[in-house]
Amino acid sequence: MTLRMLVAGNWKMHGLSDDIAEIQAIAAAAREYPDVDVALCVPAILIERAARAVELPIGGQDVHFAEQGAHTGCISARMLRDAGASLTIVGHSERRDAQRESDAEVKAKAEAALACGLDVILCVGESLEVRNSGKAEATVDAQLQASLPTEHGVARSISEQLAVAYEPIWAIGTGKVPTTLEIAAMHRALRERLILQYPEDGAKIRILYGGSVKGSNAAEIFGVSDVDGALVGGASLKRDDFIPIVAAAAETVEASGEAA
Ligand code: PEP
Repeated sequence: MTLRMLVAGNWKMHGLSDDIAEIQAIAAAAREYPDVDVALCVPAILIERAARAVELPIGGQDVHFAEQGAHTGCISARMLRDAGASLTIVGHSERRDAQRESDAEVKAKAEAALACGLDVILCVGESLEVRNSGKAEATVDAQLQASLPTEHGVARSISEQLAVAYEPIWAIGTGKVPTTLEIAAMHRALRERLILQYPEDGAKIRILYGGSVKGSNAAEIFGVSDVDGALVGGASLKRDDFIPIVAAAAETVEASGEAA
């Protein structure tokens, strides 16, 4: 099944007021590719300004699982929505690592975001050590299983609100990318897990690849089966780097003959 492609940018801890102009440039260029969903996950402090400036979906990079309360420095799903976000990343490996986020916490965050009406990009991925041990698929499958939302008071179907991003940790920001065979094997395993978890909708949940995606390698990655888009870090900061990735997604859609 060919799903509508999603290309989402993760600006991480980059971006100041002046960069709203770049977000506007990205949004304007993205309009040229109506058959691809494009979104930008920006630092929390920029969400409101970005969401006011563009029609492009703007997201957070993390969310707290609680509705409110004594959680200094944290941001709830309602706060994200209130600021104008329509989606959020959860479980990025930089947070799983630096903030010691567990699978259970990631799951709770996904559930809180979905219940509040936010779309969710749930990240999973293995370390280089795990990849070299030959246990990448089993490890990432277990991580996904433990992180997937089971409670989701969603008005829309889970496949409309949830996307999974496979991001091998060793590929993030390194310029290294798994082979297409490795990506295909992992995405197939994740698809099987999604179908087991959500028998009605699992086949329609988008699985993004993330880790050193660039204009120069995007077409090859998008050609892999069960790759339904990309989560892009460094190359999402500038229109001239990001839009070629969106264009590659659009070309993949066109080549498959399934443009909406
Ligand atoms: C990311 O951190 O989500 C990511 C994919 O980063 P990069 O594209 O820079 O590897």
